[in-house]
Amino acid sequence: MSGNLYESLAGGFPSDRSRPCFQLSDGRVVSYGELEDGVSHVAGRLRARGVQPGDRVALKAEKSVEAVMIYLGVLKAGAVFLPLNVAYTRSETDYFLSDAEPAIVITDAEGFLAEAREASRLDACVSRSGDDLASIIYTSGTTGRSKGAMLHHGALAANARTLTRLWAFTPDDTLLHALPIFHVHGLFVALHCVFLSGASMIWLPKFNDDEVLAGLSRSSVMMGVPTFYTRLLASPRFTREAASSVRLFISGSAPLLSSTFLEFEQRTGQRILERYGMSEAVIITSNPLEGDRTPGSVGYALPGVEVRIAQGAETGEIEIRGESVFRGYWRMPEKTAEEFTSDGFFRTGDVGRIDPDGRVWISGRAKDLIISGGYNVYPKEVEGVLDELDGISESAVIGVPHPDFGEGVVAVCTGSGDEARLIAECRRQLAAYKAPKRIIFLEDLPRNAMGKVQKSLLRQRYADLFV
Ligand code: AMP
Repeated sequence: MSGNLYESLAGGFPSDRSRPCFQLSDGRVVSYGELEDGVSHVAGRLRARGVQPGDRVALKAEKSVEAVMIYLGVLKAGAVFLPLNVAYTRSETDYFLSDAEPAIVITDAEGFLAEAREASRLDACVSRSGDDLASIIYTSGTTGRSKGAMLHHGALAANARTLTRLWAFTPDDTLLHALPIFHVHGLFVALHCVFLSGASMIWLPKFNDDEVLAGLSRSSVMMGVPTFYTRLLASPRFTREAASSVRLFISGSAPLLSSTFLEFEQRTGQRILERYGMSEAVIITSNPLEGDRTPGSVGYALPGVEVRIAQGAETGEIEIRGESVFRGYWRMPEKTAEEFTSDGFFRTGDVGRIDPDGRVWISGRAKDLIISGGYNVYPKEVEGVLDELDGISESAVIGVPHPDFGEGVVAVCTGSGDEARLIAECRRQLAAYKAPKRIIFLEDLPRNAMGKVQKSLLRQRYADLFV
């Protein structure tokens, strides 16, 4: 066996290949045998089109079973998978394509697969070492040019094996999959756990209350972004009974509010397992399967991953090292060098602290740190206070240019309330320099597809508030 990730994943497929892999909402089932067959045809077709090991293959298509076959077929052919969000504009897509220079760009997954089925199969997996590139994931990059994180076969396989074991996946599991597959969460975390354990999936094109509620009754694990859980909680049909067949709810990609965690526990009797990850390292920390899942903490470093705070400070930038951490950004050697310390730790850009017992707490992104009048303000601390105040459902705290203070603290919130009263309330609980100078109410906070609040948009929108 070579180090090709596809070989590792296929090693977990059930020996009875007629077992279901995908269960679709229209009742159709795609077995592991059918998956494997599709993958071999894709790999054969890529080979026939002249794709060589190491060549990039871009896929910009809606979520589908065929898209997954293309992902795995690219690996099997030894090529490098480059998923692109269908929401990317023409000019964004042009940038990714000119940067990654793929040999082929696939925009119609069904069409490509139909074509591939006419062609000969590639049955033997192309040999790859763990050090060969498997995928490039462009980071959402809210500042500057988006960077292509290079993920190698060995790194992805190591992370997948750890998670499958840590979260105790078995062939009897059914995962509810409603995440997009252009991002590491839905693509690597979810799919790899299922494949390595030979489990099955309820396969939904996207999050839809009715379909998710129906699917949950047949699922044992759900992976979601925090907004999936707040949307479930907003439905009176989401009851303890509706969640009762699920053994594990996992959340990540954005911070899970403690209030969501607690409300979820009250409603269902279950505690959501929060974990922390990023495109550059897939999963970094996880709350335990057995043992205490603490609201607000992202849990412990995974086995094989070292997590520390820069310069040994109590609170500061989180740095990570380990076999599942990426090796660098595609064609950006200087940027890569800047982002790694001399002893090989990757600077994540996230700020946090580590408990004496090893639990990691994230307080925000380094670039979201506000410096007001020379003092550091961690948005998460202010958001924690705001979220507890009457009338406020959720908050995003940002810094915008201020003539006196350099940056002024602004809270953008959902809910309603009297601004002066709420600010006074914050000043009772926080040092004056941390309290927001303005509180603005919006219907909803702007979020990207992974549920992350887009603070950069808010900073742009309110840039002139004080000037
Ligand atoms: P991405 O590369 O798009 O997956 O984004 C990674 C970023 O998402 C991380 O650097 C964190 O800032 C954030 N993130 C992921 N999981 C969590 C979590 N559980 N809590 C807080 N932030 C998270």
